[in-house]
Amino acid sequence: MLTLKFLGATGTVTGSKYLLRHGDQQVLVDCGLFQGYKQLRLRNWDAFPVLPAAIRSVVLTHAHLDHSGFLPVLVSAGFRGKVYCTEATRDLCHILLPDSGRLLEEEALYANRHNYSKHKPALPLYSEADALRALEHLVAVPVGHEFALAPGMTARLQLAGHILGAASVSLECEGRRILFSGDVGRPNDPIMRPPTALGAFDYLVVESTYGDRCHEASDPRARLADIISKTAARGGVTVIPSFAVGRAQELLHEIGQLKRAGAIPAALPVYLNSPMAVDATRLYMKHHGQHRLDEQACRALGHVAHIVNSVEESMALNRRQTPMVIIAASGMATGGRVLHHLKAFAGDARNTILFAGFQAAGTRGARLLAGETSVKIHGEYYPVRARIEMIGNLSAHADADEIMDWLARAPAAPRQCFVTHGEPAAADALRRRIGERLQWPCRVPEYLEEVVLD
Ligand SMILES: [Zn+2]
Repeated sequence: MLTLKFLGATGTVTGSKYLLRHGDQQVLVDCGLFQGYKQLRLRNWDAFPVLPAAIRSVVLTHAHLDHSGFLPVLVSAGFRGKVYCTEATRDLCHILLPDSGRLLEEEALYANRHNYSKHKPALPLYSEADALRALEHLVAVPVGHEFALAPGMTARLQLAGHILGAASVSLECEGRRILFSGDVGRPNDPIMRPPTALGAFDYLVVESTYGDRCHEASDPRARLADIISKTAARGGVTVIPSFAVGRAQELLHEIGQLKRAGAIPAALPVYLNSPMAVDATRLYMKHHGQHRLDEQACRALGHVAHIVNSVEESMALNRRQTPMVIIAASGMATGGRVLHHLKAFAGDARNTILFAGFQAAGTRGARLLAGETSVKIHGEYYPVRARIEMIGNLSAHADADEIMDWLARAPAAPRQCFVTHGEPAAADALRRRIGERLQWPCRVPEYLEEVVLD
């Protein structure tokens, strides 16, 4: 008997984890952190629903923390197997997971120093050392090649656009094929290539981040130019919360082009506040086959922004009250150095906080976009007077129409389709559309639900 249990990404875009059980073999597809609402984040601290030592192996769709960021916890709790992923995902995890551990440690330290945590002392979910131990389990597998996950279970990764290394996972067991979409990229992304066409499958687990929405048809580059140049003309600072690897490079690519075209002032300083940025640009060069940038464009990425390495430089930026653009993680303002920039710049009406990707419910990003007039950071409230903007169509996710077009080209209908990785309204909207247009049996699973794949 083959079963599938949903350990995350149900009713939320975060915490992706799917457990497949076949006889006494258990494997996990993705191992992501829960983010956003506190009741979701608390799940990161729960006892894992199965014994981590009993999980044979893990396969990752991509390196975003909501798909990979729980690995250090799994390893600390006794997981001993291999973690399979594409080479680019492995490379990105080597940058992102230790950084995640470092940030969690810094936050705990900050909370203890400023005494705002209910926990005494506040502890990080995991440390940088935990993350480094988790990295030892990563094994890169070539795209498109079958590999063994467990006795009787094989898998294959196919690039899905989205970010470097992002892939869909096709898993085969007892003649049944289960496809996990992972996060699906856009067909016409300025940097990433379109997702690979779907092969045959019996069961499908598909993401629905934008399941109830279509990206605006407007040119995102024109809006970016408009927002940045108007903010600078007011004497303001544009703060862009952004994932430091992937998203940030796309923004730099756009900003570089805008400067060259004269759409924003060429002299306007741009800062990328991330010590990881240099490594990330190098990865674009290394994995050049996976994206649309040529070598020259990759090199140009390195010249668009000043890279901010130290915490001192980061703090110095906050004292500068002259026009500039600051890109800093995290993308949903849930942590990272961008929080210090929000404290410094959110209170001034000349400034703009610009979001460039999906904001999960319950995150600071979602609350700012909803118009909240103060933002709580490190236990204190800060007034929000800056303009809050969002350029949704800069997103790395396919929208509802794009997902439908991708699915519609599948060679045959699955026996069952599970819609996950979406807020409840988005997941349900995509479920309805798949049912109506493709007539596939389709449903939205519950947290911890287990289904038999017969
Ligand atoms: Zn993602």
